Amino acid sequence: MLNPKQRKELEDALNALPKRERDRLFDEARKKRSDAQKRRRAKARETVDGERVGGQSRPDPLIDWVLRLFADERKRGVNAGAGGDSGTSDANALVEGLVVGLTRRWAEVLPDGSEPDAAPVGCRLSAEMAAKQQSGIAVGDRAVFAPDDTGDPEVVRVLPRRSVLSRPDPRDPSAERVVAANIDAVVIVVSVRSPPLHPRLIDRYLVAIEHGGADAVIAVNKADLLSGADLASELTKLDPYRDAGIPVVVCRAHPETGQRDVDGLRTLLAGKTCAFVGHSGVGKSSLANALHPDLELATGAVRSQDLRGRHTTTASTMHRIPGGIRVIDTPGVRYFGLADITPEELRWSFPEFVELSRECHFTDCTHDHEPGCAVKQAAEEGRIAPVRLETYRRLLEELRTGKPPGEVSERIRPPRDD
Ligand code: GDP
Ligand code: ZN
Repeated sequence: MLNPKQRKELEDALNALPKRERDRLFDEARKKRSDAQKRRRAKARETVDGERVGGQSRPDPLIDWVLRLFADERKRGVNAGAGGDSGTSDANALVEGLVVGLTRRWAEVLPDGSEPDAAPVGCRLSAEMAAKQQSGIAVGDRAVFAPDDTGDPEVVRVLPRRSVLSRPDPRDPSAERVVAANIDAVVIVVSVRSPPLHPRLIDRYLVAIEHGGADAVIAVNKADLLSGADLASELTKLDPYRDAGIPVVVCRAHPETGQRDVDGLRTLLAGKTCAFVGHSGVGKSSLANALHPDLELATGAVRSQDLRGRHTTTASTMHRIPGGIRVIDTPGVRYFGLADITPEELRWSFPEFVELSRECHFTDCTHDHEPGCAVKQAAEEGRIAPVRLETYRRLLEELRTGKPPGEVSERIRPPRDD
């Protein structure tokens, strides 16, 4: 890290310090080195996915730690050589930023205050964080990083989230996978043809979105594939959602013909961080590209697959789009289980029920079989869409019995989505 000349210069400056100051530096360095040693020992015992991740190499001599600390303080003007007062060196080494990319062991973090097109800093994930990576850190998170014992940036902390988009891990439904964090909106993308519109697919996404605290938007893509009248009739399928207060926006994002209309979507998303979800092939990537042609996300059949035909795009990335929009590309999100949602939470996931349920005879009415249910009555009178109550009851049944939905069309998990 230091060349011999720099080192000599530092040593001289250190020796010129008042004894009290030198002692302070040695004390602090001793503490840092011992902490690092503890971490190293802990790491040496740790494995991630059966693979040993711990470094067992011996720690640097104490004097190296002292010189590093001293150099760091001088760089920040804390200790110009004349015994300045410092107790904040740790805090100052910490940098806060936004996680814009994530792979198994690395997070790309854009430090706060960076220029808009600045490159993010590649930060190692601590072994602990890498082990619970799917829930511990996600694109969109605000994270704090600091140099680790080798001086490389390492994520040390993830700040509390204001919203998440998460789903149960397909391999271990009791574990949560956070797909994106701190999103304002989740855009459920559907198409009117190819694949055709199955409104029921939307319900599951909506529950997960409500649960995670983001707003939902429904984007209907491929409007060019239907005539005006057919389109209008197809869109009535989405009236229940519209009535429930969920914005529905019609788009065209055809990459080949260049027929593009995403103005409505752009207006809805202005200034927001969002994630696009939906069936494969509905045009999520095309929509993102239409919002910002510079993105050039791969679309259609050109998805990368490894030799066993698995999708290899496991990394999520946040893209910046003019208009203050940030889109989180979440390649793996096609299926949302309901595993960690309780029946109570399900009730709150249907926004149009919330007001009405105050008028139910029982305060804990599940809107299922109870007498005096205001939600049931509203559905009968057409004040809310009956299909929404049906949907709710079906999902409630699924939660109670633990059985997946019987209808195949509702299973939106593709054969190999992991
Ligand atoms: P994704 O899997 O949801 O990301 O979907 P893609 O963006 O890869 O698009 C899937 C296919 O739909 C591609 O062949 C696109 O060319 C096509 N496509 C996307 N948007 C439109 C659209 O608005 N109209 C039509 N006709 N085709 C579209
Ligand atoms: Zn009720």
